[in-house]
Amino acid sequence: MDGQTSRIEAEPEESGAGGPEVEHFDVLLVGAGLSGIGAAWHLQQRCPHRTFLILEGREAIGGTWDLFRYPGIRSDSDMFTLGFAFKPWLEAKAIADGPSILSYVRQTAEENGIDRHIRFRHRVTKASWSSEDARWTVEAERTDTGKPVRFTCGWLHMCSGYYDYAQGYLPDFAGMDRFRGTIAHPQFWPEDLDYRGKRVVVIGSGATAVTLVPSLAESAAHVTMLQRSPTYVASRPASDAIADRLRAWLPTKLAYAIVRWKNALQAIAIFNLSRRRPEMMKSMLRKAAIKQLPDGYAVDTHFKPSYNPWDQRMCLIPDGDLFTAVRDGRASVVTDQIDTFTETGIRLKSGDELAADIVVSATGLNLLAIGGMQLEVDGSVVDLSKTVSYKGMMLSGVPNFAWTIGYTNASWTLKADLVAEYVCRLLKHMDAKGYAAVTPDAAGTTAANPFLDLASGYVTRSLAELPKQGDRAPWRLHQNYVKDVRLLRRGPIDDDVVFTPAVAADRARSIA
Ligand SMILES: Cc1cc2nc3c(=O)[nH]c(=O)nc-3n(C[C@H](O)[C@H](O)[C@H](O)COP(=O)(O)OP(=O)(O)OC[C@H]3O[C@@H](n4cnc5c(N)ncnc54)[C@H](O)[C@@H]3O)c2cc1C
Repeated sequence: MDGQTSRIEAEPEESGAGGPEVEHFDVLLVGAGLSGIGAAWHLQQRCPHRTFLILEGREAIGGTWDLFRYPGIRSDSDMFTLGFAFKPWLEAKAIADGPSILSYVRQTAEENGIDRHIRFRHRVTKASWSSEDARWTVEAERTDTGKPVRFTCGWLHMCSGYYDYAQGYLPDFAGMDRFRGTIAHPQFWPEDLDYRGKRVVVIGSGATAVTLVPSLAESAAHVTMLQRSPTYVASRPASDAIADRLRAWLPTKLAYAIVRWKNALQAIAIFNLSRRRPEMMKSMLRKAAIKQLPDGYAVDTHFKPSYNPWDQRMCLIPDGDLFTAVRDGRASVVTDQIDTFTETGIRLKSGDELAADIVVSATGLNLLAIGGMQLEVDGSVVDLSKTVSYKGMMLSGVPNFAWTIGYTNASWTLKADLVAEYVCRLLKHMDAKGYAAVTPDAAGTTAANPFLDLASGYVTRSLAELPKQGDRAPWRLHQNYVKDVRLLRRGPIDDDVVFTPAVAADRARSIA
């Protein structure tokens, strides 16, 4: 998974005088992960005359799927919906491993020539909009030389993901410095960490912990998943039998489109059922867990959360691998709280001790909005918490700006594809009408709700800094693919926005 092997660097333009110029592109995308590569594909297809560049802070394509390299790294949603709408997922497994997802993203970039439009090691630090020029000035820092670089663009599209790449979330556990073993964080997995035959404690109960535990348990002496409180864990087949049948009978693209819709609708149905009939869903999940765990297992202690299903993200495990590891005695779950690390492991508040050679802190991510950059409009710093999210992809008062944030209750790419399509619709509309700028205007809505309706720790820790959502469409976030298809693919393009004609921008410039 060498980030450099498939990289073709988009060369900076040199000025006649020999120094690099402030380069201008119609569209600048920030981030070369799933969202950035997908958005670039849509731009190329739908707005082929537009120039664009992707600025990527790291050295490689792939974002999440290049950064995370812990054992067993995989998706927890199916690849028929986590894959791009335009590129069928052809591999056998629906729940795929990280390296396969990474090569899928890279392949998409390479076979469409998108890799030639990426400037790597460019960390974007600031973007300033000028209404007079109807342009963004984007400032970046070269991560290899520290040199500042500048670009201008007509449209800025943030595809920077949702979390801090620089550091994960690590609570300040007492006594950590006393521990004589190894402490690892999944975001920065040490390549040479040898866990064979070792006693491993994984702290956490989220998607990363439930992925790591069965994988480590294949060769560790024993793995303990130490959780403060349980999470809903649901088993799901790693392969999709219906998809396999359809793929055998139908043309590839048709089969993919059908399975994508099937799985998107299934995710919506499960989410809605969880919200409307939580008791029924709880009972189904409990029964399914009991079936896969040893007789007499304390299911309610370790797998019965105090909240309702989908109040926090549900953990999906392929073919019940976590339950199998517990059943086979290779892994166990402890629900307790950390009192302190000791020299040899972890002492719990119950007084029990967990001996460990390695402790993995699968304690989560730090949310980071718009890649941590500073945003300015006409000289004023934009306070994100004072903005309202428009259609879940633009911000009130911020012109010519999109931000891809995928679903929290379904595959990220379902929404990312729709956002990319919508940006192209808007750009074409502006071309046709001679508009230079479009700005969402939240005058008719009340910023009534938090941006994300999820009680997970990483969300609640950062909600105060995020934009709000309004009390009605198009300011209300749906987290629902069908509703978003209606809104973004088929809905009006000019609702609650102010368009600035290109001539008005020209006039403002000439007066100034
Ligand atoms: C371990 C893990 C497993 C996941 N599994 C799933 C799953 O199964 N299903 C699902 O739907 N979602 C999953 N997610 C969420 C996942 O992040 C998305 O699926 C998807 O990969 C996001 O793609 P992205 O391109 O929007 O963001 P990212 O993958 O985060 O990529 C963002 C890119 O932007 C770059 N960038 C950020 N800020 C800047 C800046 N200021 N300047 C320049 N470049 C910048 C980063 O370097 C990175 O390359 C998972 C997340 C994690 C961490």
